[in-house]
Amino acid sequence: MKPSHIEHLGIAVTSLEQTIPFFELLTGSKCYSIEEVADQKVKTAFFKVGQTKIELLEPTCPESTIAKFIEKNGGRGGVHHVAFNVDNVADALAYCEANGIQLIDKMPRKGAENLTIAFLHPKSTCGVLTELCQQPK
Ligand code: ZN
Repeated sequence: MKPSHIEHLGIAVTSLEQTIPFFELLTGSKCYSIEEVADQKVKTAFFKVGQTKIELLEPTCPESTIAKFIEKNGGRGGVHHVAFNVDNVADALAYCEANGIQLIDKMPRKGAENLTIAFLHPKSTCGVLTELCQQPK
């Protein structure tokens, strides 16, 4: 496995509406996409920083893992995950599993922006929730 680049950084926020202006200021680029991912109970907003993106994640309900993350963080957001771009998520998962890395997702699934994604368990990744992403064909 050799990721080509950091696809995005996922940052949990309590409110997209309140944080989008700050990230537009910080990145000097307009938020180019807002998308709800019902599956993960989040609303996402995206910014480009070169080849890498910033993905803001706002929980859509209290049961969302993002809501729980914010709660653990004392009600504040923070860096939630790092996402690596790989050629093939299924192959990357097999590689990780063969090397003793604990998986959250045994199978690739659909994420925001129509990417194919899978998560690795933070227990195996130095405490940093790690996502693998594959660009749509
Ligand atoms: Zn992500």
